[in-house]
Amino acid sequence: MTTLDIAHESREAAPAGAAPRAKPSLVGLTRPQLMDALKDFGLPEKHLRMRAGQIWNGIYNRGLTRFDGMTTLSKELRDKLGQNFDISRLDIVTEQKSVDGTRKWLLRLPSAVPGVPGPEIETVYIPEEGRGTLCVSSQVGCTLTCTFCHTGTQKLVRNLTAGEIVGQILIARDALGEWPDGGRNSEDRLITNIVMMGMGEPLYNFENVRDALEVVSDGEGLSLSKRRITLSTSGVVPMIEKAGEEIGCMLAISLHAVNDETRNKLVPLNKK
Ligand code: SF4
Repeated sequence: MTTLDIAHESREAAPAGAAPRAKPSLVGLTRPQLMDALKDFGLPEKHLRMRAGQIWNGIYNRGLTRFDGMTTLSKELRDKLGQNFDISRLDIVTEQKSVDGTRKWLLRLPSAVPGVPGPEIETVYIPEEGRGTLCVSSQVGCTLTCTFCHTGTQKLVRNLTAGEIVGQILIARDALGEWPDGGRNSEDRLITNIVMMGMGEPLYNFENVRDALEVVSDGEGLSLSKRRITLSTSGVVPMIEKAGEEIGCMLAISLHAVNDETRNKLVPLNKK
């Protein structure tokens, strides 16, 4: 990803971020996965669909980060869920805002090693006339080495989970006041489009990207049409057909050159 020049207003909001997540997150689970998690947790089979719908509504329609606010659930169940699951956000290391409304967040993922800060990723919001695009990361670092790209100089640390991919969108909605409590409705939403064009090659993290986009496009949640979601690949050709079958969003192939000779230099994957 090309680093944007956003230097006008910067806000540090960084907690230390050096502790692993204590509880599994429910954010980013598809509906069947959420029902499975609740079943394993011990909820009765006959309530699974309804409870999953209530939790889904709390996370994706109301932007809740704690179970306390899910008042359609009993107090006892809210307490139990809170003791066993997490629906909090990723840590924001910095948030920068340009005069043109572009925003960039540096986010810290949960640490894998106690005492060692987790790795960082970037998410960028770009407002334009009549639309607003959120550029979302799919990996920490990248295995590809596109010569123009800063991320390409960093080794791949790991793939993002589906929850970490979806979590970037939730943080952007928080900052833009896009939840119902922020006074906006779906007709005047600020994030109208998603591009999987941040750090990483999304087709090398296929399952998590697929699941995240299923959550994002769910009509009873974040509800972003797959026609407004673009997966940008550097050209992982063997995965493109599968992406069409299993993800079904728009596809962009970053060519960067008009002939193979130049593209081989800029995007070495082209040689394959
Ligand atoms: S695929 Fe290329 S452009 Fe995209 S993050 Fe990796 S190195 Fe950068």
